[in-house]
Amino acid sequence: MAFFDQAGWDGRAYIGGWVTTGSTVDVVSPATGEKLATVAEGSAADVDQAVTLAVAAQHDWAGRPAEERATILRRAAAALEAHQDVLVDWLVKEAGSGQGKAAFELGLVAAELHLASGTATMPYGQLLASGHPRLSLARRRPVGVVGVIAPFNFPGILAMRSVAPALALGNAVVLKPDPRTSVAGGLFLAAVLEEAGVPAGVFSVVPGGVAAGTALVEHPRVPVISFTGSTAAGRKIGETAGRLLKRAHLELGGNNALVVLPDVDVTAAASAGAWGSFLHQGQICMTTGRHLVHEDIYDEYVGILAKKAAAIPVGDPATGAPLGPLIDAGQRDKVHSIVTDSVAAGATLAAGGTFDDLFYRPTVLSGVRPEHRAFTEEIFGPVAPVLRFDSVDEAIDLVNASEYGLSVAVLSGDAFGAFELGDRINTGVLHINDQTVDDEAPAPFGGTGASGTGARFGGHEANIEAFTETQWVTVQSQIQRYPF
Ligand code: NAD
Repeated sequence: MAFFDQAGWDGRAYIGGWVTTGSTVDVVSPATGEKLATVAEGSAADVDQAVTLAVAAQHDWAGRPAEERATILRRAAAALEAHQDVLVDWLVKEAGSGQGKAAFELGLVAAELHLASGTATMPYGQLLASGHPRLSLARRRPVGVVGVIAPFNFPGILAMRSVAPALALGNAVVLKPDPRTSVAGGLFLAAVLEEAGVPAGVFSVVPGGVAAGTALVEHPRVPVISFTGSTAAGRKIGETAGRLLKRAHLELGGNNALVVLPDVDVTAAASAGAWGSFLHQGQICMTTGRHLVHEDIYDEYVGILAKKAAAIPVGDPATGAPLGPLIDAGQRDKVHSIVTDSVAAGATLAAGGTFDDLFYRPTVLSGVRPEHRAFTEEIFGPVAPVLRFDSVDEAIDLVNASEYGLSVAVLSGDAFGAFELGDRINTGVLHINDQTVDDEAPAPFGGTGASGTGARFGGHEANIEAFTETQWVTVQSQIQRYPF
Protein backbone atom coordinates (compact mmCIF):
# COMPACT_ATOMS: atom_id res chain seq x y z
CA MET A 1 0.00 0.00 0.00
CA ALA A 2 1.30 3.50 -0.81
CA PHE A 3 2.53 5.59 2.11
CA PHE A 4 -0.38 7.34 3.87
CA ASP A 5 -2.93 5.71 1.61
CA GLN A 6 -6.29 7.20 2.53
CA ALA A 7 -7.92 3.77 2.77
CA GLY A 8 -5.65 3.07 5.75
CA TRP A 9 -6.58 6.11 7.83
CA ASP A 10 -9.91 7.50 6.58
CA GLY A 11 -12.44 7.67 9.43
CA ARG A 12 -9.79 6.78 11.99
CA ALA A 13 -7.72 8.15 14.85
CA TYR A 14 -4.22 6.96 15.78
CA ILE A 15 -4.50 5.59 19.32
CA GLY A 16 -2.05 2.74 19.72
CA GLY A 17 -2.68 2.10 15.99
CA TRP A 18 -5.27 3.12 13.40
CA VAL A 19 -8.64 2.83 15.15
CA THR A 20 -12.22 3.97 14.75
CA THR A 21 -14.09 5.77 17.54
CA GLY A 22 -17.81 6.31 18.07
CA SER A 23 -18.14 9.18 15.57
CA THR A 24 -16.42 10.93 12.69
CA VAL A 25 -16.03 14.46 11.37
CA ASP A 26 -15.64 15.54 7.76
CA VAL A 27 -12.43 17.12 6.52
CA VAL A 28 -13.48 19.91 4.15
CA SER A 29 -11.44 22.01 1.72
CA PRO A 30 -11.87 25.69 2.64
CA ALA A 31 -11.12 26.61 -0.99
CA THR A 32 -13.73 24.44 -2.71
CA GLY A 33 -16.05 23.22 0.05
CA GLU A 34 -15.31 19.69 -1.19
CA LYS A 35 -15.27 16.86 1.36
CA LEU A 36 -11.72 15.49 1.33
CA ALA A 37 -11.93 12.76 3.95
CA THR A 38 -13.35 11.89 7.35
CA VAL A 39 -11.45 11.44 10.57
CA ALA A 40 -12.52 9.82 13.81
CA GLU A 41 -13.78 12.28 16.38
CA GLY A 42 -12.25 11.63 19.77
CA SER A 43 -14.26 11.78 23.00
CA ALA A 44 -13.00 12.10 26.57
CA ALA A 45 -12.98 8.27 26.69
CA ASP A 46 -10.72 8.14 23.61
CA VAL A 47 -8.36 10.66 25.21
CA ASP A 48 -8.30 8.50 28.33
CA GLN A 49 -7.48 5.44 26.21
CA ALA A 50 -4.62 7.29 24.50
CA VAL A 51 -3.21 8.49 27.83
CA THR A 52 -3.51 5.00 29.38
CA LEU A 53 -1.55 3.51 26.46
CA ALA A 54 0.99 6.34 26.72
CA VAL A 55 1.55 5.75 30.43
CA ALA A 56 2.05 2.04 29.77
CA ALA A 57 4.52 2.62 26.91
CA GLN A 58 6.49 5.58 28.26
CA HIS A 59 8.72 3.77 30.75
CA ASP A 60 10.17 1.45 28.11
CA TRP A 61 10.58 4.35 25.66
CA ALA A 62 12.47 6.44 28.24
CA GLY A 63 14.63 3.44 29.12
CA ARG A 64 15.87 2.90 25.59
CA PRO A 65 19.32 4.25 24.74
CA ALA A 66 19.11 7.93 23.82
CA GLU A 67 20.88 7.11 20.56
CA GLU A 68 17.99 4.78 19.65
CA ARG A 69 15.43 7.56 20.12
CA ALA A 70 17.70 9.87 18.12
CA THR A 71 17.89 7.30 15.30
CA ILE A 72 14.11 6.96 15.20
CA LEU A 73 13.70 10.74 14.97
CA ARG A 74 16.29 10.90 12.17
CA ARG A 75 14.32 8.18 10.36
CA ALA A 76 11.15 10.23 10.87
CA ALA A 77 12.85 13.24 9.24
CA ALA A 78 13.90 11.02 6.35
CA ALA A 79 10.37 9.59 6.01
CA LEU A 80 8.93 13.11 6.02
CA GLU A 81 11.37 14.25 3.37
CA ALA A 82 10.71 11.16 1.27
CA HIS A 83 6.96 11.90 1.36
CA GLN A 84 7.09 15.68 1.41
CA ASP A 85 4.66 16.00 -1.49
CA VAL A 86 1.99 14.33 0.62
CA LEU A 87 2.29 16.85 3.44
CA VAL A 88 2.46 19.81 1.06
CA ASP A 89 -0.64 18.51 -0.73
CA TRP A 90 -2.62 18.23 2.52
CA LEU A 91 -1.43 21.62 3.77
CA VAL A 92 -2.70 23.13 0.52
CA LYS A 93 -6.00 21.23 0.37
CA GLU A 94 -6.98 21.05 4.01
CA ALA A 95 -5.48 24.25 5.47
CA GLY A 96 -5.78 26.51 2.40
CA SER A 97 -2.01 27.09 2.32
CA GLY A 98 -0.28 28.63 -0.68
CA GLN A 99 2.45 26.40 -2.15
CA GLY A 100 5.20 28.66 -0.77
CA LYS A 101 3.77 28.66 2.74
CA ALA A 102 3.28 24.88 2.61
CA ALA A 103 6.90 24.35 1.51
CA PHE A 104 8.13 26.68 4.26
CA GLU A 105 6.11 24.73 6.83
CA LEU A 106 7.37 21.39 5.55
CA GLY A 107 10.97 22.62 5.99
CA LEU A 108 10.22 23.70 9.55
CA VAL A 109 8.65 20.33 10.45
CA ALA A 110 11.71 18.49 9.09
CA ALA A 111 14.04 20.86 10.96
CA GLU A 112 12.23 20.12 14.24
CA LEU A 113 12.79 16.39 13.76
CA HIS A 114 16.47 16.89 12.92
CA LEU A 115 16.99 19.19 15.90
CA ALA A 116 15.15 16.83 18.26
CA SER A 117 17.34 13.91 17.19
CA GLY A 118 20.24 15.96 18.58
CA THR A 119 18.32 16.90 21.73
CA ALA A 120 18.00 13.20 22.59
CA THR A 121 21.75 12.93 23.21
CA MET A 122 22.40 16.33 24.80
CA PRO A 123 23.88 16.49 28.32
CA TYR A 124 20.97 16.34 30.73
CA GLY A 125 22.36 17.32 34.08
CA GLN A 126 25.04 18.95 36.19
CA LEU A 127 27.42 17.84 38.92
CA LEU A 128 26.87 19.99 41.98
CA ALA A 129 29.20 21.15 44.74
CA SER A 130 28.38 19.38 48.00
CA GLY A 131 29.49 19.79 51.60
CA HIS A 132 29.68 16.01 51.93
CA PRO A 133 31.88 13.33 50.36
CA ARG A 134 29.27 12.25 47.88
CA LEU A 135 28.10 12.62 44.32
CA SER A 136 25.50 15.39 44.12
CA LEU A 137 23.86 15.99 40.81
CA ALA A 138 20.88 17.62 39.14
CA ARG A 139 19.48 15.57 36.31
CA ARG A 140 16.63 16.01 33.91
CA ARG A 141 14.00 13.31 33.62
CA PRO A 142 11.08 12.95 31.23
CA VAL A 143 7.81 14.24 32.69
CA GLY A 144 5.84 11.16 31.54
CA VAL A 145 3.00 12.03 29.15
CA VAL A 146 2.94 15.39 27.37
CA GLY A 147 -0.38 16.64 25.97
CA VAL A 148 -0.04 18.75 22.83
CA ILE A 149 -2.91 20.91 21.52
CA ALA A 150 -2.36 22.72 18.21
CA PRO A 151 -4.25 25.19 15.98
CA PHE A 152 -5.20 25.13 12.29
CA ASN A 153 -2.95 27.73 10.72
CA PHE A 154 0.47 26.01 10.71
CA PRO A 155 -0.84 22.64 11.85
CA GLY A 156 2.28 20.60 11.08
CA ILE A 157 4.93 22.75 12.71
CA LEU A 158 2.85 23.88 15.69
CA ALA A 159 2.33 20.22 16.59
CA MET A 160 5.81 18.95 15.72
CA ARG A 161 7.73 21.67 17.59
CA SER A 162 6.44 20.07 20.82
CA VAL A 163 5.95 16.45 19.72
CA ALA A 164 9.52 15.90 18.45
CA PRO A 165 11.48 17.25 21.45
CA ALA A 166 9.06 15.68 23.94
CA LEU A 167 9.60 12.25 22.31
CA ALA A 168 13.37 12.81 22.04
CA LEU A 169 13.54 13.36 25.79
CA GLY A 170 11.77 10.09 26.61
CA ASN A 171 8.18 11.26 27.03
CA ALA A 172 5.07 9.76 25.48
CA VAL A 173 2.85 12.27 23.67
CA VAL A 174 -0.88 12.59 23.02
CA LEU A 175 -1.62 15.14 20.29
CA LYS A 176 -5.00 16.77 19.77
CA PRO A 177 -4.94 18.69 16.48
CA ASP A 178 -7.48 21.31 15.42
CA PRO A 179 -10.55 19.51 14.02
CA ARG A 180 -10.22 21.54 10.78
CA THR A 181 -6.67 20.28 10.14
CA SER A 182 -6.54 16.81 11.67
CA VAL A 183 -4.81 15.29 8.64
CA ALA A 184 -1.84 17.63 7.99
CA GLY A 185 -1.62 18.47 11.69
CA GLY A 186 -2.14 14.99 13.11
CA LEU A 187 -2.71 11.78 11.18
CA PHE A 188 0.07 12.43 8.66
CA LEU A 189 2.53 13.05 11.51
CA ALA A 190 1.40 9.75 13.08
CA ALA A 191 2.12 7.94 9.82
CA VAL A 192 5.62 9.42 9.65
CA LEU A 193 6.46 8.55 13.26
CA GLU A 194 4.98 5.06 12.88
CA GLU A 195 7.06 4.48 9.74
CA ALA A 196 10.16 5.63 11.65
CA GLY A 197 9.57 3.05 14.38
CA VAL A 198 8.04 4.97 17.29
CA PRO A 199 6.45 2.13 19.31
CA ALA A 200 2.66 1.84 19.54
CA GLY A 201 1.20 3.91 22.37
CA VAL A 202 4.20 6.24 22.67
CA PHE A 203 2.55 8.70 20.29
CA SER A 204 -1.19 9.03 19.71
CA VAL A 205 -3.34 11.45 17.75
CA VAL A 206 -6.89 12.06 18.96
CA PRO A 207 -8.72 14.35 16.53
CA GLY A 208 -11.49 16.32 18.16
CA GLY A 209 -12.65 19.69 19.40
CA VAL A 210 -12.79 21.53 22.69
CA ALA A 211 -14.22 18.52 24.59
CA ALA A 212 -11.25 16.32 23.65
CA GLY A 213 -8.85 19.19 24.39
CA THR A 214 -10.40 19.76 27.79
CA ALA A 215 -10.19 16.05 28.61
CA LEU A 216 -6.48 16.10 27.76
CA VAL A 217 -5.81 19.20 29.88
CA GLU A 218 -7.71 17.73 32.84
CA HIS A 219 -6.32 14.21 32.63
CA PRO A 220 -4.52 13.38 35.89
CA ARG A 221 -1.77 11.41 34.09
CA VAL A 222 -0.77 14.33 31.83
CA PRO A 223 1.50 16.61 33.88
CA VAL A 224 2.58 18.94 31.03
CA ILE A 225 0.40 20.60 28.41
CA SER A 226 1.84 22.37 25.39
CA PHE A 227 -0.90 24.57 23.97
CA THR A 228 -0.76 26.79 20.90
CA GLY A 229 -3.89 28.75 20.05
CA SER A 230 -5.99 31.72 20.98
CA THR A 231 -5.48 33.84 24.06
CA ALA A 232 -9.05 33.16 25.21
CA ALA A 233 -8.57 29.37 25.16
CA GLY A 234 -5.04 29.70 26.59
CA ARG A 235 -6.36 31.62 29.60
CA LYS A 236 -8.88 28.82 30.33
CA ILE A 237 -6.21 26.15 29.99
CA GLY A 238 -3.83 28.14 32.19
CA GLU A 239 -6.53 28.43 34.87
CA THR A 240 -7.22 24.69 34.78
CA ALA A 241 -3.52 23.88 34.85
CA GLY A 242 -3.05 26.15 37.85
CA ARG A 243 -5.86 24.44 39.73
CA LEU A 244 -4.51 20.99 38.88
CA LEU A 245 -0.87 22.03 39.58
CA LYS A 246 0.41 21.04 36.17
CA ARG A 247 2.68 22.93 33.81
CA ALA A 248 1.13 24.58 30.77
CA HIS A 249 3.25 26.11 28.01
CA LEU A 250 0.96 28.67 26.41
CA GLU A 251 1.77 30.08 22.96
CA LEU A 252 -1.08 32.45 22.19
CA GLY A 253 -2.20 35.29 19.96
CA GLY A 254 -0.34 38.36 18.76
CA ASN A 255 -0.83 41.86 17.39
CA ASN A 256 2.61 42.48 16.04
CA ALA A 257 4.03 45.87 15.17
CA LEU A 258 6.29 46.79 12.27
CA VAL A 259 8.02 50.13 12.95
CA VAL A 260 9.18 51.88 9.76
CA LEU A 261 11.69 54.68 10.40
CA PRO A 262 12.16 57.52 7.89
CA ASP A 263 15.63 56.52 6.64
CA VAL A 264 14.52 53.28 4.89
CA ASP A 265 14.20 52.22 1.27
CA VAL A 266 10.41 52.64 1.22
CA THR A 267 9.81 50.10 -1.56
CA ALA A 268 11.74 47.40 0.33
CA ALA A 269 9.95 48.33 3.55
CA ALA A 270 6.51 48.05 1.90
CA SER A 271 7.51 44.69 0.42
CA ALA A 272 8.46 43.43 3.89
CA GLY A 273 5.22 44.86 5.27
CA ALA A 274 3.12 43.16 2.58
CA TRP A 275 4.74 39.79 3.29
CA GLY A 276 4.28 40.24 7.05
CA SER A 277 0.58 41.06 6.74
CA PHE A 278 -0.60 38.88 3.86
CA LEU A 279 1.35 35.57 4.03
CA HIS A 280 -1.13 32.73 4.62
CA GLN A 281 -3.95 35.30 4.49
CA GLY A 282 -2.68 36.86 7.72
CA GLN A 283 -3.55 33.73 9.70
CA ILE A 284 -0.26 33.61 11.60
CA CYS A 285 0.33 34.51 15.24
CA MET A 286 3.32 36.63 14.10
CA THR A 287 1.42 38.40 11.28
CA THR A 288 2.24 42.11 11.04
CA GLY A 289 -0.94 43.53 12.57
CA ARG A 290 0.16 47.15 12.99
CA HIS A 291 2.32 49.13 10.57
CA LEU A 292 3.70 52.18 12.39
CA VAL A 293 5.18 54.45 9.75
CA HIS A 294 7.04 57.75 10.17
CA GLU A 295 5.07 60.66 8.75
CA ASP A 296 7.87 61.66 6.30
CA ILE A 297 7.35 58.45 4.30
CA TYR A 298 3.80 57.58 5.34
CA ASP A 299 1.98 58.47 2.11
CA GLU A 300 4.57 56.79 -0.09
CA TYR A 301 4.52 53.63 2.07
CA VAL A 302 0.72 53.39 2.03
CA GLY A 303 0.66 53.93 -1.74
CA ILE A 304 3.15 51.12 -2.47
CA LEU A 305 1.55 48.75 0.03
CA ALA A 306 -1.92 49.35 -1.42
CA LYS A 307 -0.66 48.70 -4.97
CA LYS A 308 0.93 45.44 -3.85
CA ALA A 309 -2.25 44.40 -2.03
CA ALA A 310 -4.35 45.05 -5.12
CA ALA A 311 -1.98 43.01 -7.30
CA ILE A 312 -1.68 39.77 -5.25
CA PRO A 313 -3.74 36.92 -6.77
CA VAL A 314 -6.15 35.23 -4.37
CA GLY A 315 -7.74 31.88 -5.22
CA ASP A 316 -7.59 28.12 -4.77
CA PRO A 317 -3.95 27.47 -3.81
CA ALA A 318 -4.22 24.04 -5.46
CA THR A 319 -4.28 25.92 -8.78
CA GLY A 320 -1.21 27.99 -7.83
CA ALA A 321 -2.66 31.12 -6.17
CA PRO A 322 -0.19 32.47 -3.58
CA LEU A 323 -3.00 33.48 -1.21
CA GLY A 324 -5.85 31.10 -0.50
CA PRO A 325 -9.05 31.10 1.55
CA LEU A 326 -9.60 31.93 5.21
CA ILE A 327 -10.20 28.81 7.22
CA ASP A 328 -13.98 29.22 7.65
CA ALA A 329 -16.91 31.62 7.51
CA GLY A 330 -16.70 32.49 11.20
CA GLN A 331 -13.13 33.69 10.77
CA ARG A 332 -14.03 35.62 7.59
CA ASP A 333 -16.93 37.37 9.32
CA LYS A 334 -14.71 38.37 12.24
CA VAL A 335 -12.09 39.82 9.88
CA HIS A 336 -14.73 41.73 7.92
CA SER A 337 -16.39 43.15 11.03
CA ILE A 338 -13.05 44.54 12.25
CA VAL A 339 -12.44 46.13 8.84
CA THR A 340 -15.92 47.66 8.52
CA ASP A 341 -16.00 48.87 12.15
CA SER A 342 -12.61 50.53 11.73
CA VAL A 343 -13.70 52.24 8.51
CA ALA A 344 -16.89 53.41 10.24
CA ALA A 345 -14.69 54.80 13.03
CA GLY A 346 -12.60 56.86 10.59
CA ALA A 347 -9.98 54.59 8.97
CA THR A 348 -9.62 54.70 5.17
CA LEU A 349 -9.78 51.67 2.92
CA ALA A 350 -6.69 52.02 0.71
CA ALA A 351 -7.10 48.51 -0.80
CA GLY A 352 -9.29 45.43 -0.42
CA GLY A 353 -12.05 45.19 2.15
CA THR A 354 -14.06 42.81 -0.04
CA PHE A 355 -14.44 39.04 -0.18
CA ASP A 356 -15.81 36.26 -2.32
CA ASP A 357 -16.89 33.25 -0.28
CA LEU A 358 -13.84 32.56 1.98
CA PHE A 359 -11.40 34.48 -0.25
CA TYR A 360 -10.67 37.81 1.43
CA ARG A 361 -8.84 40.43 -0.63
CA PRO A 362 -5.56 41.71 0.85
CA THR A 363 -6.63 44.88 2.63
CA VAL A 364 -4.82 48.08 3.58
CA LEU A 365 -6.35 50.44 6.13
CA SER A 366 -4.73 53.86 6.41
CA GLY A 367 -5.41 56.57 8.95
CA VAL A 368 -5.88 53.94 11.66
CA ARG A 369 -6.06 55.34 15.20
CA PRO A 370 -5.16 53.56 18.47
CA GLU A 371 -8.84 53.34 19.45
CA HIS A 372 -9.84 51.47 16.25
CA ARG A 373 -10.52 47.73 16.46
CA ALA A 374 -7.95 47.22 13.68
CA PHE A 375 -5.31 48.49 16.11
CA THR A 376 -6.45 46.91 19.36
CA GLU A 377 -7.50 43.40 18.19
CA GLU A 378 -5.72 40.47 16.60
CA ILE A 379 -7.42 40.30 13.17
CA PHE A 380 -6.06 36.95 11.91
CA GLY A 381 -6.80 37.94 8.32
CA PRO A 382 -5.00 39.63 5.38
CA VAL A 383 -5.35 43.17 6.72
CA ALA A 384 -2.59 45.78 7.08
CA PRO A 385 -3.61 48.63 9.42
CA VAL A 386 -1.22 51.60 8.98
CA LEU A 387 -0.66 54.33 11.58
CA ARG A 388 1.38 57.51 11.36
CA PHE A 389 3.91 58.61 14.00
CA ASP A 390 6.21 61.61 14.17
CA SER A 391 8.70 60.73 16.94
CA VAL A 392 10.46 57.57 18.00
CA ASP A 393 9.03 57.94 21.51
CA GLU A 394 5.53 58.00 20.06
CA ALA A 395 6.29 54.87 17.99
CA ILE A 396 7.54 53.02 21.06
CA ASP A 397 4.45 54.01 23.05
CA LEU A 398 2.25 52.73 20.21
CA VAL A 399 4.11 49.39 20.06
CA ASN A 400 3.89 48.92 23.82
CA ALA A 401 0.22 49.94 23.91
CA SER A 402 -0.76 46.38 22.93
CA GLU A 403 -1.55 43.73 25.54
CA TYR A 404 0.26 41.25 23.27
CA GLY A 405 4.03 40.77 23.18
CA LEU A 406 4.90 38.22 20.51
CA SER A 407 6.90 39.67 17.58
CA VAL A 408 8.05 43.21 16.72
CA ALA A 409 10.15 44.36 13.77
CA VAL A 410 11.96 47.64 13.18
CA LEU A 411 13.05 48.81 9.73
CA SER A 412 15.81 51.43 9.60
CA GLY A 413 18.93 52.48 7.71
CA ASP A 414 20.69 52.42 11.09
CA ALA A 415 20.49 48.79 12.19
CA PHE A 416 22.23 49.30 15.53
CA GLY A 417 20.15 52.37 16.33
CA ALA A 418 17.08 50.23 15.70
CA PHE A 419 18.53 47.50 17.92
CA GLU A 420 18.90 50.02 20.79
CA LEU A 421 15.34 51.17 20.22
CA GLY A 422 14.32 47.53 20.56
CA ASP A 423 15.52 47.58 24.18
CA ARG A 424 12.52 49.77 25.00
CA ILE A 425 9.96 47.36 23.50
CA ASN A 426 8.13 44.52 25.27
CA THR A 427 8.26 41.53 22.96
CA GLY A 428 9.33 37.89 22.88
CA VAL A 429 10.78 38.17 19.35
CA LEU A 430 12.55 41.21 17.83
CA HIS A 431 13.65 41.46 14.19
CA ILE A 432 15.74 44.37 12.91
CA ASN A 433 15.32 45.04 9.20
CA ASP A 434 12.89 42.20 8.63
CA GLN A 435 9.14 41.79 9.03
CA THR A 436 7.49 40.03 11.97
CA VAL A 437 6.93 36.49 10.61
CA ASP A 438 9.75 33.98 11.04
CA ASP A 439 10.61 30.75 12.78
CA GLU A 440 13.63 28.47 12.98
CA ALA A 441 14.00 25.28 14.99
CA PRO A 442 17.05 26.44 17.02
CA ALA A 443 15.53 29.84 17.96
CA PRO A 444 13.65 30.35 21.25
CA PHE A 445 10.06 31.17 20.39
CA GLY A 446 7.28 32.67 22.47
CA GLY A 447 5.61 35.83 23.66
CA THR A 448 4.80 37.79 26.78
CA GLY A 449 1.58 39.28 28.16
CA ALA A 450 -1.50 38.12 26.26
CA SER A 451 0.81 36.22 23.84
CA GLY A 452 1.62 33.60 26.45
CA THR A 453 4.02 32.45 29.08
CA GLY A 454 7.24 33.36 27.29
CA ALA A 455 9.78 31.60 25.09
CA ARG A 456 9.29 27.99 26.07
CA PHE A 457 10.64 26.08 23.11
CA GLY A 458 13.16 26.32 20.32
CA GLY A 459 16.71 25.02 20.62
CA HIS A 460 18.04 22.24 22.84
CA GLU A 461 18.07 24.11 26.17
CA ALA A 462 14.55 25.54 25.93
CA ASN A 463 13.16 22.19 24.76
CA ILE A 464 14.85 20.34 27.63
CA GLU A 465 13.46 22.93 30.04
CA ALA A 466 9.96 22.55 28.55
CA PHE A 467 9.70 18.76 28.45
CA THR A 468 11.66 17.45 31.43
CA GLU A 469 11.57 17.66 35.21
CA THR A 470 14.67 18.35 37.30
CA GLN A 471 15.65 15.88 40.00
CA TRP A 472 18.34 16.32 42.68
CA VAL A 473 20.25 13.08 43.27
CA THR A 474 22.92 12.29 45.83
CA VAL A 475 24.97 9.10 46.01
CA GLN A 476 27.38 8.23 48.80
CA SER A 477 29.25 5.02 49.33
CA GLN A 478 28.21 4.43 52.96
CA ILE A 479 25.35 5.29 55.28
CA GLN A 480 26.47 8.09 57.58
CA ARG A 481 25.78 7.94 61.34
CA TYR A 482 23.23 10.51 62.58
CA PRO A 483 22.83 11.72 66.20
CA PHE A 484 19.57 9.76 66.57
P1 NAD B 1 -8.27 28.12 19.36
O1 NAD B 1 -7.71 28.51 20.67
O2 NAD B 1 -9.71 28.29 19.14
O3 NAD B 1 -7.94 26.59 19.04
C1 NAD B 1 -6.63 26.07 19.10
C2 NAD B 1 -6.67 24.61 19.52
O4 NAD B 1 -7.13 24.53 20.86
C3 NAD B 1 -7.62 23.74 18.71
O5 NAD B 1 -7.05 22.46 18.61
C4 NAD B 1 -8.87 23.72 19.57
O6 NAD B 1 -9.67 22.59 19.32
C5 NAD B 1 -8.28 23.69 20.96
N1 NAD B 1 -9.08 24.30 22.03
C6 NAD B 1 -9.86 25.40 21.95
N2 NAD B 1 -10.37 25.68 23.16
C7 NAD B 1 -9.90 24.75 24.02
C8 NAD B 1 -10.08 24.50 25.42
N3 NAD B 1 -10.84 25.29 26.18
N4 NAD B 1 -9.42 23.46 25.98
C9 NAD B 1 -8.62 22.67 25.23
N5 NAD B 1 -8.43 22.83 23.90
C10 NAD B 1 -9.07 23.87 23.31
O7 NAD B 1 -7.39 28.90 18.29
P2 NAD B 1 -7.79 29.44 16.85
O8 NAD B 1 -8.47 30.75 17.05
O9 NAD B 1 -8.44 28.44 16.02
O10 NAD B 1 -6.29 29.67 16.29
C11 NAD B 1 -5.77 30.88 16.07
C12 NAD B 1 -5.12 31.47 17.31
O11 NAD B 1 -3.93 30.76 17.62
C13 NAD B 1 -4.69 32.91 17.08
O12 NAD B 1 -4.98 33.68 18.21
C14 NAD B 1 -3.20 32.78 16.89
O13 NAD B 1 -2.45 33.97 17.16
C15 NAD B 1 -2.84 31.68 17.82
N6 NAD B 1 -1.56 31.08 17.44
C16 NAD B 1 -0.49 31.27 18.27
C17 NAD B 1 0.76 30.78 17.90
C18 NAD B 1 1.98 30.97 18.78
O14 NAD B 1 2.96 30.26 18.60
N7 NAD B 1 1.96 31.90 19.71
C19 NAD B 1 0.89 30.08 16.69
C20 NAD B 1 -0.23 29.93 15.88
C21 NAD B 1 -1.45 30.41 16.27
